[in-house]
Amino acid sequence: MFLRELTMSIDSLKGVGPVALHSLAKGGICSIGALLSHYPRTWEDRSRYVPLKDFHSGPVCTVVQVMAHDWFNFRERTRDLKVYVEDASAKGVLLCFKRPFMEKQLVVGRYYRLWGAFQYKFGELQCASFEVEALAERTEYNLIDPATIVNQAPKRHFGRILPVYPLSKTLTQSMLRRFIEQALNQYADHLEEELPGYLIQRDQLLPKSQAIRAIHFPGSLEELEQARHTLIYAELFYLEVLVGKRAKERRSVQRTTGCPGSAGALLPLQQRLLERLPFRLTQGQTEVIRIINQDLDGPSPMARLLQGDVGSGKTLVSFFAALRGVELGGQVALMAPTELLARQHGENAARLLEPLGVRPAFLTGNLKTAGRTQLLKRLASGEIDFVIGTHALFSKDVQYKNLRLVVVDEQHRFGVLQRQAIMAKGDHPDLLMMSATPIPRTLALTVFGDLDISTIRDLPPGRKPIETHLARESNEAKVYDFVRHELAAGRQAYFVYPLIEADERKGIKDAQSMATRLAQQIFPQYPVALVHSKLDEEEKRRTMEDFRSGAICILVATSVVEVGVDVPNANCMVIEHAERFGLSALHQLRGRVGRGDTQSYCFLVYSDAVLTDESKARLKVMLETPDGFVIAEQDLKLRGPGHITGTEQSGYLPLEIADPIRDAALLELARIDAFAMLEQDPDLSHHEHLQVAHVLSRTAPFSPIGI
Ligand code: ADP
Ligand code: MG
Repeated sequence: MFLRELTMSIDSLKGVGPVALHSLAKGGICSIGALLSHYPRTWEDRSRYVPLKDFHSGPVCTVVQVMAHDWFNFRERTRDLKVYVEDASAKGVLLCFKRPFMEKQLVVGRYYRLWGAFQYKFGELQCASFEVEALAERTEYNLIDPATIVNQAPKRHFGRILPVYPLSKTLTQSMLRRFIEQALNQYADHLEEELPGYLIQRDQLLPKSQAIRAIHFPGSLEELEQARHTLIYAELFYLEVLVGKRAKERRSVQRTTGCPGSAGALLPLQQRLLERLPFRLTQGQTEVIRIINQDLDGPSPMARLLQGDVGSGKTLVSFFAALRGVELGGQVALMAPTELLARQHGENAARLLEPLGVRPAFLTGNLKTAGRTQLLKRLASGEIDFVIGTHALFSKDVQYKNLRLVVVDEQHRFGVLQRQAIMAKGDHPDLLMMSATPIPRTLALTVFGDLDISTIRDLPPGRKPIETHLARESNEAKVYDFVRHELAAGRQAYFVYPLIEADERKGIKDAQSMATRLAQQIFPQYPVALVHSKLDEEEKRRTMEDFRSGAICILVATSVVEVGVDVPNANCMVIEHAERFGLSALHQLRGRVGRGDTQSYCFLVYSDAVLTDESKARLKVMLETPDGFVIAEQDLKLRGPGHITGTEQSGYLPLEIADPIRDAALLELARIDAFAMLEQDPDLSHHEHLQVAHVLSRTAPFSPIGI
């Protein structure tokens, strides 16, 4: 049997009552198979004797004698118990908060196995969270050597390496351990291999049954490591089999439209846009446009991720792509994560493309009924060529006549289901995703397993590097003076805050209060406006328009202006409480300036009071490099695997034990192996026993490229 075939209910196990069953089910554990693949979060090595005196190296695992009891924290009706213990090496104290009954369990004079983490406090070695097990008086009191006593424990809570599980509320570690141990005893021996035999042999992986056993109750730390290695590899292998299969499927879709033989050369509409531009395309833009053109002409749908730092001109690239989509007779949808950004794209499209005869339209959730019905009708009948909007683009009632190309801007802001939903509006449309947040290679191999990636590495010419300055909060006046000087020269400025409204508990500056203060006290001679996510769309729209036109000089905002907003005359970005923003947000915010040909400035104003080492490091990175790719790498380093930008995106990967960032090396290997297997045996007919679909049964909602 395969692990996934163990679909029998857990209530066949001893001691599983309705309450336990219910909490297991709540945690998604409904079958023996699921129970066995509920992997431990960590393990506690209770097989090794660690005397009290070694408390600083981690939890101790020893044998203690209870010496005395004492009481403290007297309150109404209750008090807390303190138990003095000692082992062969030192004395310690067990603190039993709200557990007066421990008095009866820890009897003075008796011996106990003890597991717990101690710290030196108030002149004694204290431990508040521990587990004990009484020694059997007759047999064990005669053994003098504590190491033997620890080792020879009756294999329940001591004498072995114990799993520690992620828990839901009403379950306890010992319940889970009991259930899983039973399930292992009944079923583990019959588990079939899920990996091809040649791979198991080549890498000396553990047999499935041993790996499953050892991941829960390893015989040694070495065996645990082997088990982890085996299971992680297997999981990544199957993931990559799936990725490889999807890739093949996409490439097998054949269509007739396109412009074969053009070798990516511009079509007439694109040529006309090029001629109308007041500037020349950068080399990076030219190159990706050519590649995208080839994709769009090709026989199978494109799935391409376009990466390029903030300000590298991705929007324009997508317009060129849109023109080709339209010219090839289809409709194009461009989706942006905020209404602000969508509107900006909509305005640009109207300005640049309408004169070419393209019929663009703008669709958001806020469009009122009458206009909306009209628009949807025109979209469904093909009278609109290029629709730009927010999530509204894939609402149920939105229909396209012939959706040929989908562009997803700031793609990291969308979930896979949303990308799927918009793709489902067409018949295998081309997909162009854009982002300024580079994706680590390992994620590109998983979440975006089947995606082609292009990168624009240059910025439009004439851009002066943004000058970045750090300023203590106490020096804010200097920053304000500097900005005043720029305003006087006719420039505009952003002021960004971490909060919308005042929050007394936090005691930090917020956008609302600061908008008032900036307007009334600091820059009374300049018009100030406020924009944040709680304002209604119409107000946001007006504010942005006024800022763009220069009617407003100072825009006070939260991180809503993080993505996309493009106002070239704004050359000052002041981020207050910069220590509270993540690296990628800081980088995106800084990217709002430096878009024109004047010198731009970014001030990171931080407050000393709450500056952690990590936030210091972040600010230092911002000071040292303008390069989004370097910043993304540093972000990865600072935050560690599992937290990096983009990993949110791996949240929906069906991974139980592997981590694509941490296990990057194994992932690469698994990918090579999986693709090689698919190459030799495309339908997996020689690997039917692997039951790919079955092993991957939990992967239903997962799609590596969002289609
Ligand atoms: P991003 O890649 O961050 O989405 P945008 O598409 O918003 O960047 O472009 C930033 C600004 O650069 C816009 O004002 C755009 O008009 C301008 N731009 C784009 N391409 C060029 C170019 N080749 N030369 C000069 N300016 C350009
Ligand atoms: Mg953009």
